[in-house]
Amino acid sequence: MADQPSGTGHPAGNAPAPNAPAPNAPAPKPTVRANGSSGKARYPAKYSALSLFTHGLRGRDWPRMWRRHEMRPSYDVVIIGAGVHGLATAYYLAANWGVTNVAVLDKGYLGGGGSGRNTAIVRANYLTPEGVRFYDRSVKLYENLAADLNFNVMYSQRGHLTLAHNDSSLRTMRWRAEVNKLEGVDSEVIGPDEIKELVPYMDTSENTRYPILGALYHPPGGIIRHDAVNWGYARGADIRGVHIHQETEVVGIDVEAGKVTGVQTSRGRIATPVVVNCTAGWASLISDMAGVKMPIITHPLQAAVTEPVKVFLNAVVVSGTLHVYVSQTDRGELVFGASTDPYASYSTRGSLEFTEELAGHILELMPSISKMRVLRQWAGLCDITPDFSPIMGVTPVEGFLADVGWGTYGFKAGPVAGESMAELIATGVTPELIASFDLARFAEGRLVGEKGAAAVGH
Ligand SMILES: Cc1cc2nc3c(=O)[nH]c(=O)nc-3n(C[C@H](O)[C@H](O)[C@H](O)COP(=O)(O)OP(=O)(O)OC[C@H]3O[C@@H](n4cnc5c(N)ncnc54)[C@H](O)[C@@H]3O)c2cc1C
Repeated sequence: MADQPSGTGHPAGNAPAPNAPAPNAPAPKPTVRANGSSGKARYPAKYSALSLFTHGLRGRDWPRMWRRHEMRPSYDVVIIGAGVHGLATAYYLAANWGVTNVAVLDKGYLGGGGSGRNTAIVRANYLTPEGVRFYDRSVKLYENLAADLNFNVMYSQRGHLTLAHNDSSLRTMRWRAEVNKLEGVDSEVIGPDEIKELVPYMDTSENTRYPILGALYHPPGGIIRHDAVNWGYARGADIRGVHIHQETEVVGIDVEAGKVTGVQTSRGRIATPVVVNCTAGWASLISDMAGVKMPIITHPLQAAVTEPVKVFLNAVVVSGTLHVYVSQTDRGELVFGASTDPYASYSTRGSLEFTEELAGHILELMPSISKMRVLRQWAGLCDITPDFSPIMGVTPVEGFLADVGWGTYGFKAGPVAGESMAELIATGVTPELIASFDLARFAEGRLVGEKGAAAVGH
């Protein structure tokens, strides 16, 4: 469907967007028909119990959630990567700042990267004050996201347990609990008896290879429906005029006199003064195109899911010592994960070693699930930084912005990263919340060490 350029907002790197409407400008009310619908479906749909009822009664189609557009020769902002970070950045640019002449490009399909492959754990119980404040803002945004997007993202705050099997882990859990409390985040260290009450099927006895000494308990942590988050942000951005171009690969970034001037894509050139790199596992390849070196190594991370069974696990359980974590979806499947594969690679194939080790370790925690069958396993790419914290903000190339380094923990950060990056683009000022995640910290020795809270528990 061809449409007219919106022409609102001209964010140019570090300068404020001159024509941007006031923050929190209301969304326009498009009434165009959806692509590929029966003709009766009006875009956008408003989801409610009443509309579900009336659609059912009248046998009406639902319109598509986002539309196809002709690619414009220029955009005010080009975002590379249609994962949760790219889509959230586009959504908040449009919703909070009225900047709508924005394109989100993806070489594959929306959510085809880590945002559609993750195990959907959301939490704020990090180790550093900067990290805790940042992820806590994301938890708060997630709490209202279903209402904000008019889309059920199924956020279930069922509690998150990080087990300690030795004294040094227990010390780190206490440290995290104290930092969390100081930042107003609900976390505390609990003992084996309380753990048993929360997770009755877990073996908390002393007769195991690695007895459980305690756990960091974080009640607001939980799981979410990752696809719904991606689709909800895409829909919210599309309704407000953002263009999402799938199957559009960025193959080059044009930089002249230290400034971004455009991107080369598999479908032609787009002129733009602002490019945002939201490509997670591919982040260093994209940065190289702009001549910016990122201290990132890419590792595969695998996960697996079982057949569904009656719900018996009402918390997320993580064991750093056993390199395993588990949660149960609302459908009843157990979702397992581990730490990254121990080698750098761009492969997204699953391996037998992963499944074998996972099964062995999870059965040490929950021997009673030995008869459950694994249905499938998969892998995604993770961009790991030296300090296990992200890299966000400006780079030495004007107009080339980074929202990368999300490693194994970036899905939960989608909302706060999108909100912060949108503010940076619209105002030209780096928000306080992300200032310590700048690229310059590696050269200046200001690392934000989060390995103690982010290596296995994503
Ligand atoms: C198995 C697994 C489990 C995980 N579990 C969790 C978890 O429980 N909690 C959590 O918070 N995080 C988790 N993560 C991490 C999380 O998934 C990622 O950090 C997050 O999804 C990154 O989102 P993103 O939007 O930055 O990137 P992605 O979702 O990876 O999107 C990047 C996009 O960029 C596109 N792209 C790449 N190159 C180009 C190009 N040249 N041109 C155009 N487009 C391009 C890709 O196609 C891709 O769609 C997990 C990751 C994996 C793999």
